[in-house]
Amino acid sequence: MVKRHFSNSIANIHLDFLLKNLKAIKNRVPAKKVLAVVKCDAYSHGAVKVSRTIEKEVDWLAVAHIDEGIELRMAGIKIPILVFGVPTYETAAAYQTHNLTATVSHDSHFSILMDGTSYHINFDTGMGRLGFRPVNAASVREMAIANQRLICSGIYSHYATADDPGSDFVILQNERFQKVLSHFPEVPLVHMSNTGAIANYPEINHFNMVRTGLGVLGYNSGNTQYEWLNPILTWKTKIVQVRPIEKGDTVSYSSTWIAPKNGYLATLPVGYGDGIPRSLSNKLNVLINNKLYQQVGNVTMDMVMIYLEDDKLAVDSEVTLLGEGAWDASDWAKHAGTNVHEILTNLTNRITFQY
Ligand SMILES: *Cc1c(COP(=O)(O)O)cnc(C)c1O
Repeated sequence: MVKRHFSNSIANIHLDFLLKNLKAIKNRVPAKKVLAVVKCDAYSHGAVKVSRTIEKEVDWLAVAHIDEGIELRMAGIKIPILVFGVPTYETAAAYQTHNLTATVSHDSHFSILMDGTSYHINFDTGMGRLGFRPVNAASVREMAIANQRLICSGIYSHYATADDPGSDFVILQNERFQKVLSHFPEVPLVHMSNTGAIANYPEINHFNMVRTGLGVLGYNSGNTQYEWLNPILTWKTKIVQVRPIEKGDTVSYSSTWIAPKNGYLATLPVGYGDGIPRSLSNKLNVLINNKLYQQVGNVTMDMVMIYLEDDKLAVDSEVTLLGEGAWDASDWAKHAGTNVHEILTNLTNRITFQY
């Protein structure tokens, strides 16, 4: 990474909002333990900073890759950390060395992990990604019993369709998991719900722990927006150039936008290399002086252009890209044809993050 002396754009992270979001989640699913998912650098928000802020208020953390867990341990995070990914011969020792909890999602994992490693069993009730099939619950139990050298501290599953309300498949997966659990009555931690399940299915069985990534960061996962979550990130930049534009002038690669009349065009020093999806070309709106302006032409790697119509705004005018009255990450996701998770994880470290 290039050492940054000057910022092109700044993401402000309001760490205090994390605790508010956490409180709102706890109100939504009372008396449940909370596991905060801080994989992928807490969806670009900074896993160490986020984890330090919430460490005393959550029961567990989780990451996708073992390196992400090691990073948190090296930063002095002490609470239990679950690794969702697959353990291998290469990584087995690191679970022990760094006191990370493994996910056992295949027969081979029982032999790969080292003596004394703690693990959660993952069952695939319909996600179709990782995990044992429910029909094998009895034999998984036998393997767990045969491997007393390992410590089984939890069991979990994952929803495929919880991001929006009204999915029968959520109910079906929940029922399948309950049947699996009848084989594991003595496993202490049982968890299945992600942010979508917490937000959209408050009445469902949440077992004794919920997992939340997006929620604690203040975002909704699907199309339903809940006002009890507050995004902790706002992303701003400044206009670097303002130029007159004439009717018929074209803008950016492939000339996809043609000026409808004479006016002004602003250039911003951020593009898809910073995390603005190219699929938002000619769709994105940004906020300048409390007014929404249209981004025009294809998003380029390092810059985007904004149509100011007749407003001859000043160079250095502040531009809000995400949050605080501008479009939020859900708006971006909807118009880019993706999910909020991808919008956030695509924010790159070319952005200056301030805490
Ligand atoms: C990423 C992930 C989560 C968190 O999902 P959110 O929608 O951010 O709450 C929970 N569980 C598993 C297994 C995951 O991979």
